[in-house]
Amino acid sequence: MLRQVAEGVLIHESKFCQSNAVVVQGRAGVLLIDVRILGSEMAALADDLRELGQPVVAGFSTHPHWDHLLSHPELGAAPRYGTARCATTVRAFLSDANWKTLIAPLIPPDIAEQVPLDLLGIITGLPAETTRFPWDGPQVRIIEHRAHAPGHAALLIEKARVLIAGDMLSDVLIPMLDLNDTTDPIEGYLAALRLLEDVAGDVDIVVPGHGSIGAADQIAARIDQDRTYVQALRDAHASSDPRVSPSAKEGWGWVADVHERQVQRLAQRSKR
Ligand SMILES: [Zn+2]
Repeated sequence: MLRQVAEGVLIHESKFCQSNAVVVQGRAGVLLIDVRILGSEMAALADDLRELGQPVVAGFSTHPHWDHLLSHPELGAAPRYGTARCATTVRAFLSDANWKTLIAPLIPPDIAEQVPLDLLGIITGLPAETTRFPWDGPQVRIIEHRAHAPGHAALLIEKARVLIAGDMLSDVLIPMLDLNDTTDPIEGYLAALRLLEDVAGDVDIVVPGHGSIGAADQIAARIDQDRTYVQALRDAHASSDPRVSPSAKEGWGWVADVHERQVQRLAQRSKR
């Protein structure tokens, strides 16, 4: 079911991992950002849009992870985009004939049958350093950075003052670093948080890729919480982040395991 979070901006939440897809209304139809997750949910989204008389005119994936690259035939064949680096990363991945086998361990077995992969990652890269999404609709600023995944972008719907954060600024997920990044994943993440902080004054609503929508008063707090987490990782301090504590929200206990893995992998990296 679609839920309006600001004028012309609607959210469709998946049962899987509280994943948010975003719909932005333009003049001739909608821009769909990070379509999620189960086939039935994507078909229901297509139904909702049909009822509203809103064709899909474009799509965007915030970053090259499977759960942000999906689509469904009923959503039509409008072009889908990502940053240049995002598209290059996806193309390299899909060039492996065994990509469906490679992706299988990432998808929880209880939903694997329900996630259609045939349209995964069919995206076009925008020219490098594009900062405006090219479409006939409200101005959408692209904020590309190096946190979480190559070519990750947040989108700022300027007039509606909505920040679509991709996999950052979540109330349930900790910052998940791109530990395959050969440069400095900690500094990359902190730099990305600074970019988001720079626009925080223009934002009334933050939509994380997974988790609850945040109101204006939570934006600075979420940035601070993510920064504190990343700094504790960097300095090898124990984390007091509520998202990895035993009292984390029900169903999110696995986030503590992700945290432990990050601690271990960073320790290995620093030994190299
Ligand atoms: Zn991700």
